[in-house]
Amino acid sequence: MSTLNLRAKALSDVMGRQTKEVNPPSSRISDYYGVNVFNDQAMRMFLTVDAYNAVRSAIDRGERIDRRLADQVASGMKEWAASKGATHYTHWFQPLNGSSAEKHDAFFEPLGEGRSIERFDGGMLVQQEPDASSFPSGGIRNTFEARGYSAWDPGSPAFLIHNTLCIPTIFVSWTGEALDFKTPLLRSIRALDEAATAVCQYFDKDVKKVIATLGWEQEYFLIDESFYYARPDIMMAGRALFGHGPARGQQLEDHYFGSIPDRTHAFMREFETESLKLGIPVKTRHNEVAPNQFECAPVYEEMNLAVDHNMLLMDVMEKTARKHDLRVLFHEKPYSGVNGSGKHNNWSLATDTGVNLLRPAKTPKENIQFLAFFTNTIAAVHAHADVLRASIASAGNDHRLGANEAPPAIISVFIGGYLSGLLDDLEKNIKATMSPASKTELKLDIGRIPQVMLDNTDRNRTSPFAFTGNKFEFRAPGSSANCAGAMTVMNTIVAAQLRAFKKDVDALVDKGVKKDEAILRTIRDLIVHSKPVRFEGNGYSDAWKEEAAKRKLPNFPDTPRALDAWSRRETIALFRDTGVLSETEIKARHGIELHNYTLKVQIESRVCADMALNHVLPAAVQYQNRLIENVRGLREVMGAQAAEGATVTQVDLIRRISEHMEQVRTLSVGMTKARKAANTITDERERAIAYCDTVKPFMDQIRYHSNKLELLVDDELWPLPKMRELLFTR
Ligand code: ADP
Ligand code: MG
Repeated sequence: MSTLNLRAKALSDVMGRQTKEVNPPSSRISDYYGVNVFNDQAMRMFLTVDAYNAVRSAIDRGERIDRRLADQVASGMKEWAASKGATHYTHWFQPLNGSSAEKHDAFFEPLGEGRSIERFDGGMLVQQEPDASSFPSGGIRNTFEARGYSAWDPGSPAFLIHNTLCIPTIFVSWTGEALDFKTPLLRSIRALDEAATAVCQYFDKDVKKVIATLGWEQEYFLIDESFYYARPDIMMAGRALFGHGPARGQQLEDHYFGSIPDRTHAFMREFETESLKLGIPVKTRHNEVAPNQFECAPVYEEMNLAVDHNMLLMDVMEKTARKHDLRVLFHEKPYSGVNGSGKHNNWSLATDTGVNLLRPAKTPKENIQFLAFFTNTIAAVHAHADVLRASIASAGNDHRLGANEAPPAIISVFIGGYLSGLLDDLEKNIKATMSPASKTELKLDIGRIPQVMLDNTDRNRTSPFAFTGNKFEFRAPGSSANCAGAMTVMNTIVAAQLRAFKKDVDALVDKGVKKDEAILRTIRDLIVHSKPVRFEGNGYSDAWKEEAAKRKLPNFPDTPRALDAWSRRETIALFRDTGVLSETEIKARHGIELHNYTLKVQIESRVCADMALNHVLPAAVQYQNRLIENVRGLREVMGAQAAEGATVTQVDLIRRISEHMEQVRTLSVGMTKARKAANTITDERERAIAYCDTVKPFMDQIRYHSNKLELLVDDELWPLPKMRELLFTR
């Protein structure tokens, strides 16, 4: 075996690993929670009253901060950051390449003659022009102007990482087009606030604002750093393109909620401590279903903040993992044959009066409000299931959706037996003209939504979109995704639906129908129309695919075609009318998503061919040579005829190795050809489809034959850490 066999080295590294415990600064989280955030407490300490009030009204009411006050805010922020040792600042934003971006500048400014000052003013706080020409813009910047601007988002507090003050910003072109995830998210939050507040007015005049809330659950895999370096596929593409399934996978289900391994535990404690210092309210941690798979979840927050916190958390996790000789895999499907990773998005709406609009309440009146928001959400998902599907489409998620305990690509809504029964009753009972008696009865019925429902006993893990007692849980988003993608769509479709709802109710009221009855009648219409999207059965079953087709629910199994939703007229109108995305922005995003898809599959395909030809084949040849030597030796010693019986197994192995090697080679050549052909296509959509239909299938076939070789070749010679090692060593 060559001394460079990284697998052997990795195995020995892993055996020698030590757990690196880092204790939190205090056993009481409240002692250090948020210490690295310029939060309300810090603002009160470091800002003038005027500056403080300006930031508060920007946060609470979206009001603009004038330049003079911005200077004061900047100065206070700098003081605070410097008091904690910060020397640099950066605008922190979320471009469409899927990660977060930062460019650090020092506060320091030379004055000449060897003197210098620390400078950070309102201008630097409010707006920057990062050299951002390499971020994806979908042609927006080429068409108009090359420049992109980052602009301060006061809704998300500045924070400190190492010695840098990070200022959350949006990222837009000079003509104001969104070049990031956050701009449309903020617009959608506002659209939803307006539409939902208007509907709340039917029930409670005191409601002035409705806040979208998000509680995400982040799933991930851990892998030892030495294994990571020995697997070019995982290093380059985030997932294993090779590897025979281990004898034992997740069938024993002994990992889920099992005791957390020591090294993992030390890693979790440290990244949680760092996250808590950054004000990320992480609360829950547990093992996930697959071996070496875990989950982290915070307490839910206002959505804009929750999105930032998720991006930040992923960053903190990656940095912390390295300290523990680990790597975090956020890929949706690092290992075929075991569960993939998702990022459940728990979505709800809260009023500024403290009511969760998706929590069934005690009084009949409040429950009509609950039902209004509940049924409007279902109706929105029904009407725009295609865009919701598009919002979670990615090369990685394609492997996960519909495979091993992940929701299918068909968007349906699960609400549980009790609420299904209730909606069915409402559908039957609310007549176009209601007698006063039946109305009271109905209201009483609604008033009796039992509290037991809130226990979440009625759980269906097979649904992509499930009501879980006081919120909807969107389970389809992929683990590596920015939550903002799915949440922007969610907010937008519900905003549009609530607007339509209000219009319908008002129209009935104008015709003389009493308000309560108008609301109930409109709710009934929603229940009737959105019925096909409700599904309580097993979402993993094939029967559901057939049933869904009968119900005319869209089912797009792959990303390039799922993304078509973005070019539909209805989608463009929806986003334009709600003010969330212009047609130009939608087109740009659609192009970027297609391009990202192509790039991902292209990288995978390159790594795959490289590994097939330069790792797998040489190992197979080496073992085959040993066999050949053995056969030759036996013939020499025993004589050709006498050796025949003694060499049957070896000769058979030699032949089978040759067959699979030939397949691996031919398929790799074929894949490279397919890639070259795809690369000549200029249309972004056509090219993505070519990668999906003609390049991607080769990888599965190459994996198949390589896995056969893995089973034939001497374990000692196999260069790639095997699946059992990746999944079961810790
Ligand atoms: P689980 O789904 O694991 O049973 P919970 O139901 O308690 O756990 O919550 C799961 C996630 O849902 C958590 O991240 C939590 O913060 C979030 N969540 C709870 N209530 C809300 C809400 N009103 N809005 C948004 N997210 C919520
Ligand atoms: Mg959950």
